Amino acid sequence: MDRLITSLATISPLNFLANSLLGHYVTIFMLHRPQPVNNIYNGICPRLLDNCLTYAQKKGFEFLSIDDVVTMSIRGDNPKKPILCFTMDDGYLDQLTVLTPIFLKHNAKPTIFVLSDFSDNIDWPWDAKLIYLTQTTVISKIEIEFDNSVFTLSFDTLQNRISSRRQLTGFAKHLADEKQDRFLKLLEDKLQVNLPPVAPIEFAPADWESLRHYQKLGLNVGAHGKTHKVFNILSDEQVNIELTTSKNRLLQEIPTASNVYCYSSGTDKDYASRHCALVANANFSAALSAKPGNTTLASIQQDLFNIKRHSFPSTLERFIRYSSWIEHLRSKID
Ligand SMILES: [Zn+2]
Repeated sequence: MDRLITSLATISPLNFLANSLLGHYVTIFMLHRPQPVNNIYNGICPRLLDNCLTYAQKKGFEFLSIDDVVTMSIRGDNPKKPILCFTMDDGYLDQLTVLTPIFLKHNAKPTIFVLSDFSDNIDWPWDAKLIYLTQTTVISKIEIEFDNSVFTLSFDTLQNRISSRRQLTGFAKHLADEKQDRFLKLLEDKLQVNLPPVAPIEFAPADWESLRHYQKLGLNVGAHGKTHKVFNILSDEQVNIELTTSKNRLLQEIPTASNVYCYSSGTDKDYASRHCALVANANFSAALSAKPGNTTLASIQQDLFNIKRHSFPSTLERFIRYSSWIEHLRSKID
């Protein structure tokens, strides 16, 4: 069945036909970091990315930046070709040095969304700190209690380090701002790891100078907040600081930056509808969620601050399906 779907999905005339008949469909992909050498987290395989972009070019898809997609949806354009759009979240240096050149080779108009405190080297993301803590600790097993929750964590194998980190990330993500800081301090203590004040080399940020270098070559750069904390754990005042600081710092460094915002994490649990108004008030034109699915120019126009994205898949077959009329139809039925 999967094979049948994939072969139907590769028939480009059907993609073009669906684009005209079912509404102009847009597939926006969300990527994070490239595959790490130690396999401590899932990353994008550079060769797979290259293969996917080669396929998309061959089949006649149009690559557009997220700002162009938003502009076309506001104008009510009727593009002839189905659109693919690529976005990278967080702003790590290896997203620039490993993934960006592949996008640029295919003229795929990617956008990277950066955290201003991270690119400014003021701090590094809390979720990266959890990866560092769980991959560095020499403790093999421990029980930790915090805020009426008890965690039994093992670090004796790679798989156990990964599952312990996932548990901790899921819990820490929705802890109120100051509690999250306390939880990280407790882990530092219990796991006997000192967190460096700035990111260690394997978590190096995309600094502003490197961002400007790639921006001149065709990379679009957008704001992803100041700290990477999800909006639901912050007060509205703190959310406004996230929005204005990340926007102001970005524009100071890159005056022609993207005008689209990208929510931290971006699922239903991470931000609420009232935050969309705050993003609009901060003069962003639109915002990207991490709610999965294909979209259309018309749906984007109707709901500019909740744009859907697909996580970049781990196989070419899935990329073909996500980009095709089949997924478009499925998203319409859901
Ligand atoms: Zn992020």
